[in-house]
Amino acid sequence: MTASIIDGKAISAQIRAELAQEVAKLKAEKGVTPGLAVVLVGDNPASKVYVGQKEKACNELALVSKKFVLPGETGEAELLDLVAKLNDDPEIDGILVQLPLPKQIDENKVIAAIHPDKDVDGFHPVNVGRLVIGTEGFKPCTPYGVIHLLRRAGVKLAGAEAVVVGRSNIVGKPVALMLVQESATVTVCHSKTRDLGEVCRRADVLVVAIGRPKMITADMVREGAVVIDVGVNRLPDGKLCGDVDFEGVAQKAAQITPVPGGVGPMTIAMLMHNTVNSARRRAGLPALG
Ligand code: NAP
Repeated sequence: MTASIIDGKAISAQIRAELAQEVAKLKAEKGVTPGLAVVLVGDNPASKVYVGQKEKACNELALVSKKFVLPGETGEAELLDLVAKLNDDPEIDGILVQLPLPKQIDENKVIAAIHPDKDVDGFHPVNVGRLVIGTEGFKPCTPYGVIHLLRRAGVKLAGAEAVVVGRSNIVGKPVALMLVQESATVTVCHSKTRDLGEVCRRADVLVVAIGRPKMITADMVREGAVVIDVGVNRLPDGKLCGDVDFEGVAQKAAQITPVPGGVGPMTIAMLMHNTVNSARRRAGLPALG
């Protein structure tokens, strides 16, 4: 193997430790403690795990954390009511409604009901618009985590050829916009892209978010590229793997993220980052970059 590993677990721990210091400073100097409300509807096992992880991160950073668990049959109006109350709650800087929601609730309606300045998930159309325009707003946590990983790994993005595989609203599109903001030259690929390998081989920085195990193989990667694997797939033997064939690609890449332990741990670190920034705004301070 020639590639060095971009260790998302270590980088995310470092970011959370830095944020804990920021939280202590905010409390001591401005009397403000960042607050996050997490709303879970129903008992989806994966969602329960994610909500538990978010609660743990809040406790670690000494944030105010309010958890709301609603039954699976909760109606849309009831959830919208709770969101409205949280919008008005002065102790709450960030509202996260765990997705997916049960079928009777329109997810887009709920996302649009969250106040854009408390939308720490970065999914509200106003924050998507801010991302497109390049003004300050909340950026979605997983793609923002990709950017922070690249920065902390010392990867030069200005002028770099960046290729993103995947165009979802959650990962592919926002990461592509953030890379444009970082002055990379960006190409976005998807299922209709002709000759995916040929496009991927152009990349100095290759970000992969497809949801297909080990689809990106060594022959699709340029020697010395930086490869970020957002994919999380469960193999028949129960093990997790990414969208990149790690063993093969690591022979060619200069730097690569593993799965697990790459992008995954960054998502919660960025949620904490967004929540702390929201509280900094409440305290009249500028956002952390
Ligand atoms: P998604 O909504 O299913 O989007 C997948 C994208 O991949 C689509 O744009 C699709 O193209 C493209 N694609 C599918 N097959 C392709 C092919 N053969 N060639 C080129 N492109 C192809 O998935 P997502 O939500 O973005 O998630 C992607 C992966 O990231 C998943 O494994 C997910 O579990 C993981 N993920 C991880 C985290 C985390 O670590 N915290 C967070 C979010 C997602 P079309 O648009 O043309 O269909």
